Amino acid sequence: MKYWVLIFVFYAVFQVDPYASERKRMVKHQIEARGITHKATLKAMYKVPRHHFVPKYMVTYAYEDRPLPIGNNQTISQPYIVAYMTATISPKSGMKVLEVGTGSGYQAAVLAEIVDHVYTIEIIPKLAQKATNTLDMLGYENVTIRSGDGYLGWEEHAPFDAVIVTAALNHIPQPLIEQLKEGGSLVMPVGKHGEIQALKLLKKRRGKTTENNLMAVRFVPFTGKQGK
Ligand code: SAM
Repeated sequence: MKYWVLIFVFYAVFQVDPYASERKRMVKHQIEARGITHKATLKAMYKVPRHHFVPKYMVTYAYEDRPLPIGNNQTISQPYIVAYMTATISPKSGMKVLEVGTGSGYQAAVLAEIVDHVYTIEIIPKLAQKATNTLDMLGYENVTIRSGDGYLGWEEHAPFDAVIVTAALNHIPQPLIEQLKEGGSLVMPVGKHGEIQALKLLKKRRGKTTENNLMAVRFVPFTGKQGK
């Protein structure tokens, strides 16, 4: 038997993940090296197969230190930013999280590895469908995707322990603040499209909200009625 047939049989039988070492490198050099220590986040980043969330022609770049195009002029965020936003909300089991801006579904999958349920809204129906297919194929049963404008949040499933918004707007939508549980955290890029934006952390404590700027970022714009 030729050696490449043996390799193929080995991979097929033992279901070896050919990207595991790239993923390990990504977590070590792009995420841990930049100071992220939240254990569950690191574990999730190591587990979720990012190469399934990018277009086929981008698979070889899936674990690089940058955002990548996913079609419809949208992007899957840089791995470090996904890890940073995830760690910022201190996710843990038992939590219910809302994400606005499903995109490829990658951030939702990372959250779904840690929390009980992820509700995620995507304004572009084609991307919502693609993300649904990817998450179904990978067996994520604790993610619910809806196609629509996420500005108003998802009242039916509120309140949420945390909210992550992955598109930039010049303010934090009030409905998202209202749908945040007491003690909850919301993370979102705030600023103008095409300019440097501020990644903001909003916390709700004893009925009051506080806001902090975490870092400078550059996200795609929040679209829809309010985004105009
Ligand atoms: N979280 C995504 C991932 O893991 O691939 C990356 C998301 S991409 C940076 C931002 C996404 O937000 C885009 O897919 C865009 O269509 C979506 N978006 C923009 N405005 C929105 C809105 N008003 N409601 C819901 N989704 C929106």
